[in-house]
Amino acid sequence: VPFTEVLDLVRGRKVFLSRGFAYVPKDDMISILITHYRAHLSQQLAMTSRALPQLEEDNRLLPMLSGLSKRYLGQDYSSKKSNVGKITAEMIDSLSKQSFPPCMQNLHQSMKRDHHLKHGGRMQYGLFLKGIGLSLEEALRFWRTEFTKAMDGDKFDKQYSYNIRHNYGKEGKRADYTPYSCNKIIMSNAPGPGDNHGCPFRHTDADLLAQKLRLQGISKDFTDKIMKYTRDGHYQIACKYYFDATHSGVEEPDVNINHPNQYFDESQHFYSGKKEAKLPNTPARTGSQRSSQNTPRSQLSQNSQPTSQNTTVDDDMMDDDLCMAAMETA
Ligand code: SF4
Repeated sequence: VPFTEVLDLVRGRKVFLSRGFAYVPKDDMISILITHYRAHLSQQLAMTSRALPQLEEDNRLLPMLSGLSKRYLGQDYSSKKSNVGKITAEMIDSLSKQSFPPCMQNLHQSMKRDHHLKHGGRMQYGLFLKGIGLSLEEALRFWRTEFTKAMDGDKFDKQYSYNIRHNYGKEGKRADYTPYSCNKIIMSNAPGPGDNHGCPFRHTDADLLAQKLRLQGISKDFTDKIMKYTRDGHYQIACKYYFDATHSGVEEPDVNINHPNQYFDESQHFYSGKKEAKLPNTPARTGSQRSSQNTPRSQLSQNSQPTSQNTTVDDDMMDDDLCMAAMETA
C-alpha cells in the first residue's frame, strides 16, 4: 500500500519500504483498516457537526451526539460471573492494598476511617466492588460491617441497603449497572466537601498528591513522572505510572489505564504471573512478570470474560440516584 496509509507502521519501522510503497505483513493489516476507519469517522463527524444546528429541536439524537466523546467504549466490567462467590467481604481489605487503583484505595481508606461514605463514594466504590466479583450478599455484609461501627443496624437497613441492592439490579428499574470508567470518574460529578469519590490525579491538590506519593514510598523518579502528567492533565497516564511504580518488574510496553476494574485485573494478572490473558485495547505484557518479594501473591484467578449487554449507569440511573441522594439528605 502507499506508505501514507500505514504511517504508524512506518514510524515503528515495522514494514519494508520500496518506491513509496509499504509491504505490510498479514498480522499488521489492522493498521490499514484503522487508517481507513479513522478517515471515514473523521469525515462523518465533520458532516454531523455541520448538521447539528438543524438537529437542535431533536431531543432523541442531540443528547447522544453531544455525549459521544465522553462515552466509554472499552470492556464491560459489570459483575464478574466467574469471580462471584470467590470474593468475600473479608478479602477486600488486603485486595485494596494490593490491587486497587488509587481512586478505590482512597474510598476504601475513607470508609475504614469514617465508617461511612457519601452517596457519590458509595456509587463509585460499590459498583467497582461489584465489578471485581463481590456478590450482593457479600456486598451487603461488607457495607453493613463497616457502617454499623458508627450507626445501628436498623438505620443501615433502612437507609443504605436499598442503594446496594439497587446497584445489583434488585430494586428500582432492576437494571444491571456497570462500574464507572476512568473517563466518567474524571469528567463528571467532581467531589465536594466531605466527598471521597473522584480520581486522585484529577481531584486532589497537587502538593497533597505529591506528599501522599512520597508517604507511600514511591521513588522520586516515579513521583516526578506522575506529577508531570497530573499537572499536564493526563490523569490516566499518571495512573499508569503509579501502576508501574507499585508493581515492580513491570516492563514496557505497558498498560494504558482506562477503567479502575481494568487496573484491578492487570494487577491481578501481574501477581498471578499469567502472561497469556490479554485485555482488549491492552498490549500483552512481555518479559518477566515476577512478583515483588514484598507483595502478596494474587488471591484470584483472572479468567473471566466480559459480560454482555448491561445497562450503562450514566443516564438510566439518574432519577434513582437523585431519589436516593434526596432520601439520604432527608
Ligand atoms: Fe482511578 Fe482511573 Fe483515576 Fe486511575 S485514572 S485513579 S483508575 S479514575
